[in-house]
Amino acid sequence: MNFTDEDMSQENSRRLRALFEMATDGIITMSSDGFIENVNQAACDLFGYAAGEMQGQKVNMLMAQYDRTHHDGYLKRYHETGDPHIIGIGRDVIGRRKDGHEFPLRLAVSEVKLDERTIYTGILHDVSAFRKAKEEVEKLNADLENKVKERTAALRQREVELKLALGKERELNELKSRFLSMASHEFKTPLSTVLSSAELIELYVEPEQQPKRERHINRIKDAVNQLTEVLDDFLSLSQLEQGRVICKPKLIDVRALISTSVESSEGQFKEGQEVILELADEPRTLMTDPKLLRHVLINLISNAAKYSSPGMPVTIRSAGTKDYCSITILDQGIGIPEEDQPHLFDRFFRARNVENVKGTGLGLNIVNHYVSLMGGRIEFTSKLGEGSSFTVHLPQDNSVL
Ligand code: ADP
Repeated sequence: MNFTDEDMSQENSRRLRALFEMATDGIITMSSDGFIENVNQAACDLFGYAAGEMQGQKVNMLMAQYDRTHHDGYLKRYHETGDPHIIGIGRDVIGRRKDGHEFPLRLAVSEVKLDERTIYTGILHDVSAFRKAKEEVEKLNADLENKVKERTAALRQREVELKLALGKERELNELKSRFLSMASHEFKTPLSTVLSSAELIELYVEPEQQPKRERHINRIKDAVNQLTEVLDDFLSLSQLEQGRVICKPKLIDVRALISTSVESSEGQFKEGQEVILELADEPRTLMTDPKLLRHVLINLISNAAKYSSPGMPVTIRSAGTKDYCSITILDQGIGIPEEDQPHLFDRFFRARNVENVKGTGLGLNIVNHYVSLMGGRIEFTSKLGEGSSFTVHLPQDNSVL
């Protein structure tokens, strides 16, 4: 059987129609002025219209608000400039169903030049499911990323904690060994003094040797006092450590407290050392813990005397306003090397120039704690070989702190 041209063309157009109708993507043809001409079933399903409802309507009825109002402008511009923004390019757009629901579409438009006019064919693919899947993947990725970030942060935190714990442990070990070397030295010296003096006293049996016995008895007394001081420091430290030192403010007379502190420090004074008092009239009274303040002052005054040569004075100044009181203890002693100054309040720290002056390196650490407990602060200036000046600033009434 032979086919005529006409048979062939009918056959072709049937095939094309079948393709058009069965396509799973929506296909819409449109006139050059934007009116819908043909729509396939998939396009009807996509937009929820019957074919007859779309044919002859403007294509922008299928678009979301923005494109709907601008579509005529797009066409006009294209006709004028021939510059395509979508034709032959394809674009993701938002479609609008008959029920108003908007959904994402991939749109490919091509221009078809017929004999006497030009039409446009749009192929529309619903990408809602793809978008949704993409969003889900993105969300999963973001969740995963967050989880990784959280885990990393937790790990970092743990690392920091471990480092801190390790640092603390090391610090503790170092403190322990510093304590042991200091304690053995600080105990050994006075104990060997006690032993040697006791042995000598045993030998001085003659009545006329009484002065020699007395000299050794005094050495023993000094050594015992020295031991007591060291033990007192340890005790204060352990009480501080256990949080057992509490500031109990009372109204005190500043001058009286300074003068009793000077008296209690006298044991440390060397030949010819005297105290110069330069006390301001105000403030006369102060609301603070007298025990803590006395301890602080005795420590600072003793240090000033201890780290100065015989005959060098120790000056005590007081000043203040109605809000605070400051007490300065100033000496013209050995001073503190600049590189040691940052560590002065560290436990067991002793500057390199103290040589054979006795000490535990605990005094200033305790002083610093006590001053904080009283709500104040301590500062110092010092020059090697010229002297040092320590100032305690205290709030006038720390019961309100
Ligand atoms: P200690 O006097 O028992 O060594 P402190 O904690 O009281 O301990 O002082 C720590 C260190 O600070 C001292 O060893 C000393 O090096 C330095 N220091 C403190 N006060 C003075 C001062 N007035 N002059 C010089 N150095 C000082």
